[in-house]
Amino acid sequence: MRAATARTRYNARMISVADAQAHVLAQVERVVPPEVVPVGAARGRVLAEDVRAAMDVPPTDNSAVDGYAVGSADIPVTGTRELTVVADLPAGAVFDATLAPGEALRIMTGAPMPAGADTVYPQEIVERSGRSVRIPGGPKGVNVRHRGEDVRAGTVVLPAGGVLRPQELGVAASLGLPQLLVRQRPRVAILSTGDEVAEPGDVRKPGQIFDSNRFALHGLVEAAGGEPTDHGIVPDLYDVLHARLRAAAATADIVLTSGGVSVGDYDLVKAVLQDAGGIDFWQVAMQPGRPLAVGRIGSAHFFGLPGNPVASMLTFHLFVRPALWKLAGRRELFPPRFHAVAVEPMSKKTGRREFKRGILSYTGERWEVRITGPQGSGILTSMTLANCFVVIEEERGDVAAGDIVSVEPFAVG
Ligand code: AMP
Ligand code: MG
Repeated sequence: MRAATARTRYNARMISVADAQAHVLAQVERVVPPEVVPVGAARGRVLAEDVRAAMDVPPTDNSAVDGYAVGSADIPVTGTRELTVVADLPAGAVFDATLAPGEALRIMTGAPMPAGADTVYPQEIVERSGRSVRIPGGPKGVNVRHRGEDVRAGTVVLPAGGVLRPQELGVAASLGLPQLLVRQRPRVAILSTGDEVAEPGDVRKPGQIFDSNRFALHGLVEAAGGEPTDHGIVPDLYDVLHARLRAAAATADIVLTSGGVSVGDYDLVKAVLQDAGGIDFWQVAMQPGRPLAVGRIGSAHFFGLPGNPVASMLTFHLFVRPALWKLAGRRELFPPRFHAVAVEPMSKKTGRREFKRGILSYTGERWEVRITGPQGSGILTSMTLANCFVVIEEERGDVAAGDIVSVEPFAVG
């Protein structure tokens, strides 16, 4: 009864992908709170404040090789020269005298340069005998790593809003920082809807399919830096769905459902959401994945994704991930796009943006892309075969072999 009313109540608007993205992002007004985490646990987090260097890295000039530190005035112009080795300096030790003319210091990689020396001879090119070392001619000032050549004190090394990759963790640690102020992970509650959807591991009744969306979406949320929570499968019953969505929203920043947003008789999500909070229901001019419901349940953002497995993954990629990233305080909200040569024809309807599952490869000369085979929005193995989306813009029609197309590579790992 309720669902039938719902169908007549909402006239879905047809909007473009870009407009839908802009609407979604406009609704994300806040950023999740920050928290302090150890550097070793911060991979994938978003920095909540600029990291400004309080020191130079490296903190002193130091040797880039194992060898002998000398003053460049002692480097012979012709022939070789014998210098007196005044001390052996291991990494971590400091030579606190000044090298005098005619002296050399045995030095290890990373050990601070002594005063009076500006050049290091690698041990392989000198002759050591007893307390002296014979050096040939050579360039001045080489094999020294200079104070501050990596990081200058006072500069912003890691800007707020950046994602911490392993290299950012290393740089933070090189500044002596044990912990970082990062954004909390946005909490994302995930539900599947539909009487036909069965839990993997349970007995599948006739007419049922196993739930794939919840698991794919769980992985997508994790990969995007969110904290997924699993709220199971909800039957197509108005009251149950209403209660479960409200419960999910109580402890989440984002609530995600899949299924129940098309114009079937049991498409309850939009009816429930209309009563539980505000909702926009859109037909997005794209393929696959047209129907999309966007709104709020209490203070949580709500996304009702289409049920078809490829469509639910793609709509996550296009609409949920940028919102999650904005909520997490990220500066970059969209992935990079590249050009590749289509090596086979691709059918395309004008007036909508189409996303094919593509296999991108480099031939030694150019980047080429082909599609994975049948492109139905229920063919989830098209996603496992693919390493990118081929993005074909609204105004384009069929693509011929040899045409240039845009691709968005999937994240690796
Ligand atoms: P719906 O949007 O509910 O009409 O569903 C569209 C299609 O997606 C139907 O074929 C559903 O059986 C399928 N579907 C819905 N939810 C899931 C799910 N969680 N896992 C796999 N397929 C689903
Ligand atoms: Mg359904």
